[in-house]
Amino acid sequence: MNHIAILGAGQAGSSLAAKLRGLGFGGRITLIGEEDTLPYQRPPLSKKYLMKEMTLEQLHLRPERFYADNDISLHLGRKVDAIDPAMRQIRFGEELLSYDQLALTTGATPRALPAALGGDLPGVYVVRNLADVDRMAPEFEAGRRVLVVGGGYIGLEAAAVAAKLGLKVTLIEAAPRILQRVAAPETSDYFRGLHAGNGVEILEGAGLAGLSRGEAITVALSDGSRREVDFVIVGIGVAANDGLAAAAGIACDGGILVDAHGRTSDAAIWAAGDCARLPYRGQMIRLESVQNAIDQAEAVAANMLGAEADYVPKPWFWSDQYDVKLQIAGLNMAFDRVVTRPGASEKARSHWYYRGDTLLAVDAMNEPRSYMVGKRLIEAGRSPLPEQVADSAFDLKSLI
Ligand code: FAD
Repeated sequence: MNHIAILGAGQAGSSLAAKLRGLGFGGRITLIGEEDTLPYQRPPLSKKYLMKEMTLEQLHLRPERFYADNDISLHLGRKVDAIDPAMRQIRFGEELLSYDQLALTTGATPRALPAALGGDLPGVYVVRNLADVDRMAPEFEAGRRVLVVGGGYIGLEAAAVAAKLGLKVTLIEAAPRILQRVAAPETSDYFRGLHAGNGVEILEGAGLAGLSRGEAITVALSDGSRREVDFVIVGIGVAANDGLAAAAGIACDGGILVDAHGRTSDAAIWAAGDCARLPYRGQMIRLESVQNAIDQAEAVAANMLGAEADYVPKPWFWSDQYDVKLQIAGLNMAFDRVVTRPGASEKARSHWYYRGDTLLAVDAMNEPRSYMVGKRLIEAGRSPLPEQVADSAFDLKSLI
């Protein structure tokens, strides 16, 4: 085995290439990416980069010379059109490249608003790529009006940036509450209050009937009301980029299916990051986070070299909104109880998710200590009693 090709030059692809060299792989590595920029980190796109507090160079995961120094052949601005697993080849345009092993790290694509609702109008944006953010950045001027469609983390972060920059922000969420898909009502309440305190209008249970464009954009809501805005940001989730894999006959189901080693249904093809659906506690899940992209990619690198080690995700996520840092440890799937632990200040607290007596996850707002101890408890498989969690005077560290 001497040529590993990596398809998708983002967080997972770049980590995988670096880890292969770190583990001493001496063969050829080719890293191919559709975007015409060095592999970069996405989280600041809806945070500091959008606020213009971070430069493009600071987004880069590794400097350009890293790839040359490590003999990683980087092909940027190149879209791979097809994979031929039988021939072990990938095709870009008319060019064919043979591989011995292939890693798919193709990420995800934001769900677009249907064109029938005005999703293709000028002034309607999604936030996934650097190019998306560069395109919409000039719209962020004080006094302008923006509609954010979707109350998940990306929509809320974009709303926070816009409010901080002095825009008039309305956020609509079709579900009964913001963050419904990912967090408990207690966390939704916290962020609803935070945004309200910063002047953002949040409308929950509010469907979009359609957008139409004159000088401004007219927003028609499902309750029959209308309002005008200058531009629209759509944050209604993503779909895994599994089309190439599916067309090549690799098993996919809302993501590229991988086993605990990160191997797909084709023995020479692996997948990691947002595009992969992996086994976790008896279910197949996708994890859209930087930590998973790095850890899974590194596990796949080791397994491509024969480690045969299971990848066990240690879910971790964060979000920055105004002066609040949210840190999440664990996965709250199927929780049946939430316990609040008060923090040192009004905005500091943490929400602890349980299923029965088992601690599943922690949402910590401006509470890095609760986050750290919660993460360690979850990783150790230990569950504090709910009354210990609720008592801020109780030292949870004593349980570790
Ligand atoms: P990506 O980083 O998306 O890389 C995939 C790459 O593959 C892309 O560059 C794509 O162009 C390329 N590609 C796809 N198809 C092809 C093809 N056919 N040919 C060539 N190239 C192709 N996570 C957190 O943990 N915390 C956060 O606070 C956070 N904030 C976020 C904010 C935003 C705005 C976004 C968009 C994401 C955020 N995330 C956050 C999620 C995190 O960034 C992703 O989980 C992570 O980037 C996934 O890495 P990846 O390598 O799987 O995919």
